[in-house]
Amino acid sequence: MKKKQTKKPKAPKTEKRSRFDKFAFRARQNASSIYFLLWAIFGALSLVIVLVSGFSQQMVLAQSYREQAARELLDKGQKIEREISREPPDWAGGNYSGYIRMLAQNHDVDIRILDEEGTLLFPREHNFDPSAPEVEEILDFSEEIEMLFENLEGKAYTMYETNNEFVYGAKVELLPNANTYLYVTQSLKFLETVSARMNVRMMLVSVFLFVLSFVVTSAVAGWFTTPITEMTQKAHQLAQGNFDVDFHGGNYSKEMVELAEALNYARDELSKTDRMQKELIANVSHDFKTPLTMIKGYASMIMEISGDIPEKRNKHAQVIVDEADRLTSLVNDVLDLSKIGSGIETFKEEEVDMSAYVYEILDRFAYLHETKGYTFVTEIEEGLRTVADEGKIGQVLYNLIGNAVNYTGEDNRVYVSLKKISEDVFRFSVRDTGKGIKPEELSGIWERYYRSKDNHKRPVQGTGLGLSIVKRILERHRFHYGVESKVGEGSIFYVDFPIKTLDK
Ligand code: ADP
Repeated sequence: MKKKQTKKPKAPKTEKRSRFDKFAFRARQNASSIYFLLWAIFGALSLVIVLVSGFSQQMVLAQSYREQAARELLDKGQKIEREISREPPDWAGGNYSGYIRMLAQNHDVDIRILDEEGTLLFPREHNFDPSAPEVEEILDFSEEIEMLFENLEGKAYTMYETNNEFVYGAKVELLPNANTYLYVTQSLKFLETVSARMNVRMMLVSVFLFVLSFVVTSAVAGWFTTPITEMTQKAHQLAQGNFDVDFHGGNYSKEMVELAEALNYARDELSKTDRMQKELIANVSHDFKTPLTMIKGYASMIMEISGDIPEKRNKHAQVIVDEADRLTSLVNDVLDLSKIGSGIETFKEEEVDMSAYVYEILDRFAYLHETKGYTFVTEIEEGLRTVADEGKIGQVLYNLIGNAVNYTGEDNRVYVSLKKISEDVFRFSVRDTGKGIKPEELSGIWERYYRSKDNHKRPVQGTGLGLSIVKRILERHRFHYGVESKVGEGSIFYVDFPIKTLDK
C-alpha cells in the first residue's frame, strides 16, 4: 500500500524556477545594456559632482562664516568694552545687570562680567554689591576664567574659539577693589543651521540632477541604441541569407558609422561569396559532367565496338584515363582550396633551390612543346634559394605557368624568368602574349570561383580555382605577388621570394 503514496509532480516548481531564471537573465541583460550603463554612469557622476561641490562649498562657506563671525565678535567685544568702561556700575540702586543685558541684546551676544575667581558679577537677578554680607546668587565660571587667563596672558584683550562658541575677553576696570573681566560669547550654533540648510539644498540639487541625468540618458541612449538595435535585427536577417539589408550607423557616432560600414562590407563579401559559391557549384558540376559523359561514352564504345581491336581500344582507354585525370585534378583543387581556406593545413618550412625547382616544374609542361608546339623562353639565375613549403610553391608555379599556357597568344610562347631584384629578394615571373586582362577584371581574378566568361583554348585543365589557391598559398607565406597586364599584349604574373636559407 505504501507504494501508492507517490510524490506530487514537481512541474510547478520547475516552472517557477525557470520563470525566475528568465527574470534574472533579463535583469542581467538590462543591467548590461547601454541604456542602463549610461544612466548609472550619468547618475553616479552627477551624484559625485554634487557631493564634492556641496562639501567643498560647505567647507569654504563655513570657514568664511566663521571668520566673519570672529571679526564681528571682535568688533562687538571692543565696542562693548568701550561702552562699559564709559559707564561704570552705579551701585546706588542703578540696574547695571539690566544695562549689561540690554547691551547683550543690542549686540546679539552673551555678555558676562566675571571676577578673577570666575564668579559672575553681572548680569544677575539682583544687583551685586560686593560690600553686602550675603550673596544670594553665585554662578561659577571658574573654568571659563582659567581659559581666559591662558589666552589673555598679559594682552589687553583676546579672541578665541571654544567647542561651541567664540569668546572675546578683556580685563576691565569696573570695581575699585576687585579685578573684573569682560567675557563676551557668540554661539557657533548658527553654523549648524547654515550647514543643515545647505544639506537640504544639496539634496534637492541631487534629486534634480538624478532626474536630469535620467532624461538626458534616455535621449543619449536612444541615439546610440536605436542604430545598434536596428543593426542587430538586420544582422539576423543577413545571417538568414538576406543580402539586401543595408546597415546605417545613425548620425551621432563615428564608431557606429564605421561599424555600419564594416557590416555593409561583410554583407557585400558574403553575398559575393554566396554568388560565387553558387557559380562554382554550377561550374564544378558542369566540369564533372563533361569528363563523366566522356568516360561513360568511351567505356561503352570499348564494350560495344573497340573491345576486340587493340589499337582503337587503347586509344579509347587513354581518353578514359585522361578524363579521369581531369576529374582528379578538379577534385584536388576543390579540396586544396577548402583546406587552405579553412586554415587547417600546416605549411612546412623547407629550403628550396628555386632555380632548380622552376626547371623541374617546367619539365611537366615539356610535352606541350612536342604535342602543341609551345615554346618556353627561360631566363633563370642560378642558385636562388628561399624557405617555403616546397609542394605548395610548386602548385603556385604550376598554376601560373599553366594559366600562361592557356591564355598566351597565337605564337604559343611563354616567358619564364627568375631574377634577383634586390639584395635580398628575387622575383619569379611568367609572361604570356595573350589578350591580357581588362583593368576592371584585374582584382577579380584572384577571387574564389572567378572564371572569365571568354572561351579559351585550354591545353592545361583549369577549374577557375587556380589563382585563388595561388593567392591563399602566397598570403600564408607572406610573399609579395601581383599581376601586370595590358589588353592585347599579354600579362605578367610575378611572385617575390626572400633570399633565405634555413641556417640564416
Ligand atoms: P582558370 O582555371 O579559369 O584559369 P584561374 O583561377 O587560374 O582559373 O584564373 C582565373 C581567371 O583569371 C581565368 O579564368 C582568366 O580569366 C584569368 N586569367 C588567369 N591567368 C590569366 C592570364 N595569364 N591571361 C589572361 N587571363 C588570365
